[in-house]
Amino acid sequence: MINYDIERIVNGIIEKTKISKVPVDIETICLNYDISLEPLDADDTLSGFFLVNDNRKKIIGYNKTHSENRVRFTIAHELGHFQLHCKKDQNFFIDKSSKFFRNELSSSGILKQEREANAFAAALLMPINILEKELDKIDNKGDSNEIISKLSKKFKVSEDSMKFRLINLGIIDPN
Ligand SMILES: [Zn+2]
Repeated sequence: MINYDIERIVNGIIEKTKISKVPVDIETICLNYDISLEPLDADDTLSGFFLVNDNRKKIIGYNKTHSENRVRFTIAHELGHFQLHCKKDQNFFIDKSSKFFRNELSSSGILKQEREANAFAAALLMPINILEKELDKIDNKGDSNEIISKLSKKFKVSEDSMKFRLINLGIIDPN
C-alpha cells in the first residue's frame, strides 16, 4: 500500500534538494537539514537512532558494522522520524531489531511510526520518477527477479526493499 501523504512529503524533499540521480545521496540530504551523522560500533541489534540533543543539535546514529545498503536504509528511516514524528516532547527515536523489542512495538502506538518511517525511507531511496526512468532502460521486463536485481544495485538498496517497493507501486506482481 502506498502512503500518499508520505510520498508527497518525500517529493518535496527531493525537489528541494535537487535529487535527480541514484543512488540517492542520503548524506547530502542530512547535511541540508543540518543533521550530523554518527557511526556507531554497536552490537547487531541496534540499527540506529535520531536525536535532538540539549544544544538543539540533530544527530542520526547508525550501526557502522551493518552493510552499506542497510545503513542507507537506516539513515533514511531516521530521517523519516525527523520529518514525520519529531516534536518537542518526542525528540529521541531508537531502532532495535531484537525479537523482544518487536513484541513490545506491536502492543504500542510506536508500530505506526515505524511503518511510516519505513515507508518514508523506501520513498526517499527509491523515488517514483527516477524508478520509472530506470525501469524504461531495462529490456527484459518479463523477468521480475532480473528487474529487482538490476534496480537494487543501481539504487543501493536491498533486493527485499526493492521488491517490496515495486510490488507496492504495482510494477511487479507479488508471488
Ligand atoms: Zn524507527
